[in-house]
Amino acid sequence: MSDCLFCKIAAGEIPSNKVYEDELVYAFHDIDPQAPTHFLVIPKAHIASCGEVTADNSAVVARAFEVIARVTRELGITDFRVVSNCGPQAGQTVPHLHFHVLAGRDMTWPPG
Ligand code: 5GP
Ligand code: ZN
Repeated sequence: MSDCLFCKIAAGEIPSNKVYEDELVYAFHDIDPQAPTHFLVIPKAHIASCGEVTADNSAVVARAFEVIARVTRELGITDFRVVSNCGPQAGQTVPHLHFHVLAGRDMTWPPG
């Protein structure tokens, strides 16, 4: 999507601090980290949110979780939280599917 921030980041049109990249997904450090480790994993193809995942595009979700396991393992992180906000009431501010990966501090439950 031409006016989507995360489409532009995935395409390299807007700079980011890359963690991982393959043909399906792109991972990069969050610009406003909420934990000592905080990176985002996004599909390169535009999907607006978790609410737009279908049988036709869900392969990127599986890949995203493979990448989350791989990157955390490589970083030596065993305890972490994966979050995906869907819709403004849930806290989504960028309408391109992304998984937050947060680690390095105690997490509270339930989330706010
Ligand atoms: P959401 O609020 O939609 O769940 O998460 C969006 C996340 O994207 C936020 O944590 C925010 O800090 C991050 N973010 C927004 N704009 C940028 C940007 O230009 N670069 C990077 N690296 N992260 C961004
Ligand atoms: Zn997008």
